[in-house]
Amino acid sequence: MEYQASYLRLSLTDRCNFRCFYCMPEAGIQYIRRNEVLSFEEIAKIVHIFAALGIKHLRITGGEPLVRKDLDRLVEILAGIDDIEDISLTTNGSLLPIYAEGLKGAGLKRVNISLDSLKQDKFRSITKTNAFYQVMEGIDKAIEVGFQPVKLNVVVMGGINDDEINDFVDFALARGLILRFIEFMRITPLWRSDYFIPIEEVKRICEKRFKLREAGDNGFGPARYFEVERGGGRLGFIKTDEENCKRCCRLRLTCTGELKICLFENRGLALKHFLSEGVDDEQIMKIIKAKVLMKPDVTYKKWETSKIYISQIGG
Ligand code: SAM
Ligand code: SF4
Repeated sequence: MEYQASYLRLSLTDRCNFRCFYCMPEAGIQYIRRNEVLSFEEIAKIVHIFAALGIKHLRITGGEPLVRKDLDRLVEILAGIDDIEDISLTTNGSLLPIYAEGLKGAGLKRVNISLDSLKQDKFRSITKTNAFYQVMEGIDKAIEVGFQPVKLNVVVMGGINDDEINDFVDFALARGLILRFIEFMRITPLWRSDYFIPIEEVKRICEKRFKLREAGDNGFGPARYFEVERGGGRLGFIKTDEENCKRCCRLRLTCTGELKICLFENRGLALKHFLSEGVDDEQIMKIIKAKVLMKPDVTYKKWETSKIYISQIGG
């Protein structure tokens, strides 16, 4: 059977109001020029084409997507596209107190919030910001406006936040959040081997305190899910390995309009260029289809040595 893609991640910007030390350098980053970034109209045109090819789920990411002005207007446009069933957002959460309500009204259904420490001082040293309480408020706001589910993403790093693993489980259980622990991926030039902790180790730490039972429905995402017996919560573990590549159904559109069939791919297909050259939709659709059909055969190993800042592609 022919491969059918259904999920597209849209990175809206390479800019961010945080400087998580493992994701963006504190200074010296060359931002992409604004005229190279896709406009909302270009994004909508591309999504129309993808919807015709079978894409039903969109995830908005960045950089920090909430620093993009009028995001609710984009969500509304995308929600109005036939066949788009579901729009979600990955965010650092700091601007949710301001924007959550408007985004919910515009048609956003789900949010993933990234948070790597439950301690204010450590949060500051990871993100280089004082936004800890804003993020806490953002989590509360996401729950209050009714995003369903609200997920919490934690990149686990040895010697940094591995002492908080079980605190995160308690925190998530108490609020009904789905918690996902993410293995620190090597893809970035900011990766450090001394911080790497295998996700199996993270799971073992959880199992010392919580009884985990493999969840029946693991979906098609990268996480392996487990039910926490006490409290009835759900816990996911995300690892970068070839097994994960086999399950991966993610397509990515960078903020400059490159289609990537793998996070690790160094150069994608320049869709913005086709739009500005006036190539017609039928032709663009054929070009996209040819690229997407290559996806089942790729694994991250093909581009393993490429190094990019994750903020520039969207995690
Ligand atoms: N700014 C938003 C946020 O932080 O959620 C969206 C973009 S961020 C690049 C998306 C996700 O990628 C975050 O959960 C972040 O923690 C994760 N990430 C960044 N660098 C990573 C790395 N080297 N390994 C694993 N996850 C990483
Ligand atoms: Fe910004 Fe998200 Fe990267 Fe942190 S992980 S620097 S919040 S893009």
